[in-house]
Amino acid sequence: MKISVIGTGYVGLVTGVSLSEIGHHVTCIDVNQDKVAKMQQGISPIYEPGLSEMMTKNINENRLSFTTDHRQGLKHSDVIYIAVGTPENHDGSADMSYVIQAARDIAENIQQNVIVVTKSTVPVGTNDMIKQTIQSHMAANLQMEVVSNPEFLKEGSAIHDSFHGDRIVIGAESEYASNVIEQINQPFGVPIFKTDIKSAEMIKYASNAFLATKISFINEISNICELLGANIENVSTGMGLDQRIGSQFLKAGIGYGGSCFPKDTKALIQIAGNVEYEFELLKGVVNVNKKQQGILIGKLNDCLPILTGKRIAVLGLAFKPNTDDMRESASIRVTEELIKQGAHVIAYDPIAMGNAKSILNPLVEYADSIEEAIADSEAALILTDWDEIKNIELALFKTMKKPLVIDGRNCFSLEAVESNGIEYHSIGRPVAT
Ligand code: NAD
Repeated sequence: MKISVIGTGYVGLVTGVSLSEIGHHVTCIDVNQDKVAKMQQGISPIYEPGLSEMMTKNINENRLSFTTDHRQGLKHSDVIYIAVGTPENHDGSADMSYVIQAARDIAENIQQNVIVVTKSTVPVGTNDMIKQTIQSHMAANLQMEVVSNPEFLKEGSAIHDSFHGDRIVIGAESEYASNVIEQINQPFGVPIFKTDIKSAEMIKYASNAFLATKISFINEISNICELLGANIENVSTGMGLDQRIGSQFLKAGIGYGGSCFPKDTKALIQIAGNVEYEFELLKGVVNVNKKQQGILIGKLNDCLPILTGKRIAVLGLAFKPNTDDMRESASIRVTEELIKQGAHVIAYDPIAMGNAKSILNPLVEYADSIEEAIADSEAALILTDWDEIKNIELALFKTMKKPLVIDGRNCFSLEAVESNGIEYHSIGRPVAT
């Protein structure tokens, strides 16, 4: 199969590379010239474990190429994937401008019949709109169909997820289009669920909203645990043993971030609102998350009410481990608040510091190691549970001016901390000293 992918972000690049790995000939198109120049040299513009190696292999085997030219990139393709961004508008709805532009790019450049597959997360009804947009701009002698194929990869394990995902959802109008996309995906060996287009579009939003709900739920329970003296880690473990509940996404922390949950929850509230349905539960989930993101600063201020001139270490900047993605990361809000209160912020992240430098307040300083960040600091805040942070020698915290650790990801057991003379505040657990 000859395939084109429009957009080479986390989803588009991983999709293109994975499809080439299973034998398809893939051309990836992006409007960002710098990104394309890098990818043409085999350099991945994003950090994703295993991606660079697989990308280089498939470029060398002539199954994978990159271009900024839509005409050239779409030439002779049987199937075109749309994987452009759908960021948040000011009112919380999904911004469809990149998707509409991609549809126009397809219409203006195809010279053959195609199936257009939407990977981007889009509101229910968008694939109908994509179809109309393309049909009204393309040459009259051509035929096209649309298929909804939402993406469920997790940043940090995206390549692994392509080959070991829980399901591939294919929403189509015609059996022909549905079967073609099924055949393309069959070599992944992942279970395929075929459905109608609108249901496929909704499956993506409903899945993300449900996972966000689980996170906000356990965070609320953790706050109640703190007030009652229970331990959230024990509570989560005990709850997760019930197979109806499941143990995943029951980890209390400082709330969800990233490029999907924050925008997709708000978009679904809007989608429901458009048909005059008030999604009260999801509104609660969003509000709880906002509150939870502020919880670490509250704990720090309880210990150090005045931060002016105080050196505070921030460990972990990415929104979660194993990614360089800073979108909607808790570190943005936390570092901003620390600076606002006059603190001298020294940050460290194993991978995301490059991206962080263009996003965080310019007053944030960066250390080359955990050791450098915490040395002489008056408090260390842990925002991301990278293995490097979880595996730290706890005695290292004694190099701080005062060994005060405020952990937003519950990286350490209370027993381990207690024998190390650290004042340790975490989420949903008693304070350890
Ligand atoms: P991204 O912002 O990282 O990448 C989008 C890319 O599309 C950019 O490189 C941009 O330059 C390019 N682009 C925009 N318009 C273009 C056009 N007309 N032609 C060619 N290139 C164009 O986005 P992402 O994180 O990969 O997300 C893409 C979609 O997938 C979104 O709808 C998102 O909600 C969804 N999604 C993301 C994830 C994730 O973990 N990132 C997971 C599942 C689904």
